[in-house]
Amino acid sequence: MAWHQVVSKLFVSTFIVSAIGLYGFADDEPLQKVETEVDIVAKKAKTGLSEKKSKSASKAQAFPRYSRPDSFWRKKLTQGQYYVARKKGTELAFSGAYWNHHDDGVYTCVCCGSPLFDAEAKFDSGTGWPSYWQVVDKSLIKLHPDTSSGVIRTEVNCRICSAHMGHVFNDGPRPTGLRFCINSASINFVPRKKMPEYIEKWREEIGLPALEKNVNGVIPH
Ligand SMILES: [Zn+2]
Repeated sequence: MAWHQVVSKLFVSTFIVSAIGLYGFADDEPLQKVETEVDIVAKKAKTGLSEKKSKSASKAQAFPRYSRPDSFWRKKLTQGQYYVARKKGTELAFSGAYWNHHDDGVYTCVCCGSPLFDAEAKFDSGTGWPSYWQVVDKSLIKLHPDTSSGVIRTEVNCRICSAHMGHVFNDGPRPTGLRFCINSASINFVPRKKMPEYIEKWREEIGLPALEKNVNGVIPH
């Protein structure tokens, strides 16, 4: 392997590790471990074996899976939303509804409605995509290495329904230094004054009593 390939590999690995490391996950658990627990409980829930509350069960209760067949998403979403959120597409820069949107409120997952990005953490990155320096609650997203474009990036997914949101980079502003580069097609906007009512409905639909404490941050000041 040529020296520049080694340097390039090292650089990319450092980038991914630091992007994921900086943001971390709930309880600082490794990604794989948390996902495994979620998978186990999702399977148990399907087979009706979830009465017995194990440590895994209570953990996964905070991350229920909102799983729907492909036909459901095709019907619920517009073609553009479906292409980006369910097929990991990317909208054109400066084309989406929210890159230049400045109202006060919360941006929610277009598929399952999870409150993911607060307008207070939105900034103008100049990229043409809505950009945020943090998420509402890091337990509501999943990060994955993404090599699909030939460059290694860190993909951001909704943890509840696995919708593709965009990517996170290490060149964001303070205080986190992160830049969540998100597709407008993957999100909806809810004005802050409507959040209490919205959160109630969303929690009911997704079944998220365990996240009550975490979502308080998006309820009006
Ligand atoms: Zn979602």
